[in-house]
Amino acid sequence: MQLSSKILLGMALGIVVGLILNMISDVSDSGPLTAWVVEYIFDVVGRIFIASLKLLVVPLVFVSLVCGSAAMGENVKMGRIAFKTLALYLFTTAVAITIALTLANIINPGIGIDTTATASYVAATPPAFKDVLIGIFPTNPIQAMSDGNMLQIIVFAILVGVAITQAGAAGKSTLDGFQAFNDVIMRMVTILMHLAPFGVFCLLAKLFTEEGFTAIFNLALYFMTVTLVLLIHAGVVYTSIFSFFTRLNPLTLIKNMRPAMLFAFSTSSSNATMPITMNVVEKRVGVDNSIASFTVPLGATINMDGTAIMQGVATVFIAQAYGLDLGLTEYLAVIATATLASVGTAGVPGVGLIMLSMVLQQVGLPVEGIGLIIGVDRLLDMMRTVVNVTGDGMVTTVVAKSEGLLDEEIFNEVSDRDEYSSAQPNS
Ligand code: ASP
Repeated sequence: MQLSSKILLGMALGIVVGLILNMISDVSDSGPLTAWVVEYIFDVVGRIFIASLKLLVVPLVFVSLVCGSAAMGENVKMGRIAFKTLALYLFTTAVAITIALTLANIINPGIGIDTTATASYVAATPPAFKDVLIGIFPTNPIQAMSDGNMLQIIVFAILVGVAITQAGAAGKSTLDGFQAFNDVIMRMVTILMHLAPFGVFCLLAKLFTEEGFTAIFNLALYFMTVTLVLLIHAGVVYTSIFSFFTRLNPLTLIKNMRPAMLFAFSTSSSNATMPITMNVVEKRVGVDNSIASFTVPLGATINMDGTAIMQGVATVFIAQAYGLDLGLTEYLAVIATATLASVGTAGVPGVGLIMLSMVLQQVGLPVEGIGLIIGVDRLLDMMRTVVNVTGDGMVTTVVAKSEGLLDEEIFNEVSDRDEYSSAQPNS
């Protein structure tokens, strides 16, 4: 069986087992036993799995981007790639939120919602834009790494890479070391992917034992609207942009991206999925490391189209639930704030709600409104993270193709390639 099919099986079994346990513990007195299984098996294995994924993020981004930016060499080329990537990330996010606002205004999911039964939600204070900008530049690279501050790590790695190209023989031997280390880390990613079927089983079994589906029924229209826009964005917007710029088959891209999408769904975290995204776009999609090492970590941090979609629908939903009207200025403010908020926040589970609180504050809507939608947010988080990660992969491939750095032979050969087999020492 192919690895991605095994992961899919692990996911499906996890959901089924979780839902069964959820039902059993409701109707019988097996509660304590279920709680024990969830606490000591699913939670322990699931969290160890996430921890081991996260463990790879910082070394992988740093080492891989040093190699990538050293390979890129010329600064002009680097500037051009950075520009294209940023432009595409911001553009797709703005499109995502615009579709979300439009469809939410047609479907009207918030009309008639009872606002008295809200769960409580404490708003986060948004960082000032000025601080976000200054915060991109590290004062201490070790601290940036220990905090997992992705934008700072990216800046430092690029600097090291550029210096390597200018440092002659010393640069050459430093680069050799980094390249060897990069191969080792990629191998660690491969090892971890083989544990994934068990990891995702436990993550999803725990989640669905605790969540069940009841919350969805109360918020069906909201849930459906977000899901619909997510599907349109991935199925129409991404595929059109991709075909337009690359003239390649978007379905092949989706098939190649599949392992990363499954990880995104199971972990709800673009950040934790990043090692897999990087591995997948290089080894299955055929993107050169010099592009992927920059665009993937950047995307995991600043490109969150799925999250923007939830924010767009949620804003309209909350405004309607409280009977408040939003004008064009407010809608434009929502688009701008949601796009900018995604730059300053990393892709981890639930961060979308924090960003939403910034958006609501910006347009003067009640932040407590988040309490209305919090019940289904965990499930939506899984789906929007898939869109976030797919967007990172799509933009990465478009940029690589435009620079002549996409290996189309690899792209067109859809299979679980050799790099997933532990028998292969070098991939
Ligand atoms: N979980 C999302 C991600 O990691 C962020 C969010 O929407 O909460 O991309």
